[in-house]
Amino acid sequence: MADHYQLVESLLQQPLENGDVVCNLCLWRCRLRHGQRGFCQAHVNRNGTLYNLSYGIISAIEVESIRNKPVYHFQPDSQIMSIGSYGCNFRCKGCHNLEISWGVEALDKLAKGQSTDAWVSPGQIVETALKHEVGGIAFTYSEPAVWLEYVLDVSKLAHEAGLFTLYVSNSFVTDEALELIAPHLDVLCSDIKSLSDEFYKDICPVSTVDQVLASIKKAHDLGVHVETRTNVIPGKNDDPRELRAIAEWIRDNLGADSPWHVTKFFPAYQLSHLPATPNAIIDEAAATGREVGLKHVYAHTDISCDCATENMPVAAWLEMDAGAMNEVNQCAASCCGDEGILVKKFEKEAGVFVEVS
Ligand code: SF4
Ligand code: SF4
Repeated sequence: MADHYQLVESLLQQPLENGDVVCNLCLWRCRLRHGQRGFCQAHVNRNGTLYNLSYGIISAIEVESIRNKPVYHFQPDSQIMSIGSYGCNFRCKGCHNLEISWGVEALDKLAKGQSTDAWVSPGQIVETALKHEVGGIAFTYSEPAVWLEYVLDVSKLAHEAGLFTLYVSNSFVTDEALELIAPHLDVLCSDIKSLSDEFYKDICPVSTVDQVLASIKKAHDLGVHVETRTNVIPGKNDDPRELRAIAEWIRDNLGADSPWHVTKFFPAYQLSHLPATPNAIIDEAAATGREVGLKHVYAHTDISCDCATENMPVAAWLEMDAGAMNEVNQCAASCCGDEGILVKKFEKEAGVFVEVS
């Protein structure tokens, strides 16, 4: 485990003879040339080896009830420590978490060796969770599969310390990634955003509903406790037939006992022009879930995306000196040479520099 900021070799990478590398963490399965970063911006090919840029970089921490995730059927009275980092494999138009999840600017600063974001070792995260007397650690705010190197290290230490682990995911994740994390993961809270391929293609051009549903089923079959969540957005996924079909899929694939959470959309980002979901629609969707036989359906008129509400500085949670913690994060790994990390330099050299907006 790294004990200072550095590029960490990505898990599940598949080097090809020509120096390209395929990343098998999520279902994008990005094929990257030297200098190129994946869609999530958090993994970079450096001379035929793929590295994670965000290992140990924490964008937000919050201590809260497990019910906020929402998870109601696993230690429901627990407090958890939620943590997240930069890099997501979706681009949801109603994302509430742009700064702490996509983190395009933050990842660029890391790439240039100019970041002052907090670097926290897996051991420090677990110690902090114990100090706050929570029952578990939740990986959330962006897609944890993109950060699997760190998620796995923290999860192993968390289990050794008697804490449970929870993973909030969009489930656009490979079977290989699920198989790696499942022995160290207790709870998956997964979105089923829609049953329409068009909806998914709008936020991630290479995704299909079937891939997402298969990932959720895979986690369930691997023995992870699964609770699903659908955020109902007016005019986007509020067709009663679609909501019924989601409930039926849960009943037939995860079982009638599997909890389904229906949450309310609040306007954000590129969907700021839409109204918040009327409470009646949320209640109707929940009633539909019960009609098709789901035993645990929850209508949430106060929860939407899994956002960090407090946004206290990370250093405040760790009771550490912010100056020391937020020293400029230049990579200390030998692959970076004397100039520190400077991934963007490598991207430019390789002619693959792309600004992501
Ligand atoms: S985590 Fe997903 S988006 Fe990121 S590089 Fe790997 S396959 Fe691509
Ligand atoms: S809503 Fe979640 S999955 Fe979608 S872009 Fe935001 S963080 Fe990623």
